[in-house]
Amino acid sequence: MILGRLRTAFFPPVCLICGQAGRAAIDCCAGCISDLPHLSGRCFRCGLELDRSVKLCGRCSMALPAFAATWPGFAYQEEIERLVRRFKFHGDLAAGRLLANLLALRLSELGAPRPDLLIPVPLHRRRLLWRGFNQSALLARDLSAAMSGLPWTSALERVRNTAAQVQLPADGRVSNVRGAFRIDRLPGKPRFVALVDDVMTTGSTLNECARVLRASGVERVDVWVVARA
Ligand SMILES: [Zn+2]
Ligand SMILES: [Zn+2]
Repeated sequence: MILGRLRTAFFPPVCLICGQAGRAAIDCCAGCISDLPHLSGRCFRCGLELDRSVKLCGRCSMALPAFAATWPGFAYQEEIERLVRRFKFHGDLAAGRLLANLLALRLSELGAPRPDLLIPVPLHRRRLLWRGFNQSALLARDLSAAMSGLPWTSALERVRNTAAQVQLPADGRVSNVRGAFRIDRLPGKPRFVALVDDVMTTGSTLNECARVLRASGVERVDVWVVARA
């Protein structure tokens, strides 16, 4: 708290998008926040963008995902896409913290229920070494700070180095992630967990993570993502 206040006193927030003065404690101005790309409607279960919001989209009603709800902060376009790229591919950690703060604001606007624990989607050791950080773990850490210390832990481990999902067609993505994750140890028997990731595309990775958590006794798993592609 004190450190946060000191930081704000010495480094007043500056909008990372337009360079003007930021909002209290957030590196973004009110104008840029209101211009961020939103989904017009979505499937409440998987977050898929639709013209209007529905409980289940066609795909979810064919095969229910292991997660109960998806809370996408934004659409993967425009400034959100640029901030994600700055964060993930150029190691701009301030952009990552801003994305976490923007997602925290959006989650409270959407009324997302508060889970017992946040768990980031893990990277395989080899990719972690190559990139130097796991973007989902940093998002979980910054979300925790933005949401009055909501607990988070990297309890999931990627035991198999799966081919990058973007290189595969949608039907290849499900088998690609089967058995790819293991749970390390869940602190305090959480009943309700939110999985954290930067961008959700087909949701196969998140579904497999949710399946592993449910199999270990977690009753409800929600998905929190900065953006839905
Ligand atoms: Zn701005
Ligand atoms: Zn759906």
